[in-house]
Amino acid sequence: MTAAHCVLVINTGSSSIKYQLLEPDSAEVRAAGMVSRIGEPVGADTVTVEHRGARGTLEHRGPVPDHGTGLRLAFELFARDGTDLAHAGLRAVGHRVVHGGEVFYRPTVITDAVVETIEQLSALAPLHNPANAVGIRYARSLLPDTPQVAVFDTAFFHGLPDAAKTYAIDASVAAAHGIRRYGFHGTSHEYVSGRVAEALGRDPATLRQIVLHLGNGASASAIRGGRAVDTSMGLTPLEGLVMGTRSGDIDPGIIAYLARTAGMDVDASYDMLNRNSGLEGLSGVNDFRALQAAVESGDAAARLAYDVYVHRLRRYLGAYLVELGGVDTITFTAGVGENSPAVRADALHGLEFLGIAVDSVRNTAKSSAARIISPDNSPVTVLVVPTNEELAIARAAALLVG
Ligand code: ADP
Repeated sequence: MTAAHCVLVINTGSSSIKYQLLEPDSAEVRAAGMVSRIGEPVGADTVTVEHRGARGTLEHRGPVPDHGTGLRLAFELFARDGTDLAHAGLRAVGHRVVHGGEVFYRPTVITDAVVETIEQLSALAPLHNPANAVGIRYARSLLPDTPQVAVFDTAFFHGLPDAAKTYAIDASVAAAHGIRRYGFHGTSHEYVSGRVAEALGRDPATLRQIVLHLGNGASASAIRGGRAVDTSMGLTPLEGLVMGTRSGDIDPGIIAYLARTAGMDVDASYDMLNRNSGLEGLSGVNDFRALQAAVESGDAAARLAYDVYVHRLRRYLGAYLVELGGVDTITFTAGVGENSPAVRADALHGLEFLGIAVDSVRNTAKSSAARIISPDNSPVTVLVVPTNEELAIARAAALLVG
């Protein structure tokens, strides 16, 4: 296997590293893997690195104390798989970085100063940016001669109209602390909306689109003429839709109320809203398949969680329909959006008066391809389009380094 012309895409999370080696032009994935449970006390038999490549699936078992060790182990599995990454002639390493703040709004070649700034932005994304920066530092030390590029989750939303990105709080406080709506999952929203235009053979400039990225995290966006005009996530990835463990929109007064009445400090509330809210908080499960199984078995808490999830989705759909002055396409993507016909049908139920309908045969057909699920001649085209953030990052990195 030769990895020349490939891009290595690295997505470092707080306790995991996902990676893919892929050829950006053909989209061919040469290898992919994941390091999980970094820093956790696991047994010597626990699989912590799983690598799928030319020679099938290779594994490493046992604890992974830190991200540097995780990346080194992944590189060792690449070597066992026949690829010496340091001498493979890689075009670039592409890093997913969650928060670009006001500073980064396009793919950026990584220098020492860039890593430092990504770290300085950690206050805006405490769960993500520190891990992203650690991943970048280790990747640069392991592959010092390969250009490294950061691709920011916030970038696609940089140009949100002022009315959409501004919180109605004391303007001097907002200005002093860089408080505005930034939006996340931008790489996915941009990629998916581009694929929609391609699939329909339309110029993106002519389309009003709503994209629903429904994974563990979830976000909606309104896109006019290829540019984002609104999105559901804000200063942090906590705002907006109901997610696996995150609340999405709440009355901010809840935080002060809990501080006064329950003695919960800001950190405790923030932790609850991020880790023990959303589907998890309402039903005890955050995985959507498990939630749907619980709903089917008659679990009332799971039913309520599902209904709140769909209710919030419909509220955003209504808002974006009005903001866009009508819509040409509604697209579902990510784990839940791509795989749950029930969510798609329930989110769009009873909207025929708006020209929005889902064909039940198309909606339930098994497929992993980009596809239309609305009836023929429907005024609004409803689609399912698999997202591919790794490919989008690889292409952005390859384009930047030439
Ligand atoms: P992430 O945000 O971590 O990238 P994904 O986009 O992979 O997550 O989405 C993960 C979610 O998708 C999980 O809640 C999972 O249960 C859900 N999911 C995956 N397959 C299905 C399915 N067949 N039906 C319903 N939900 C699914």
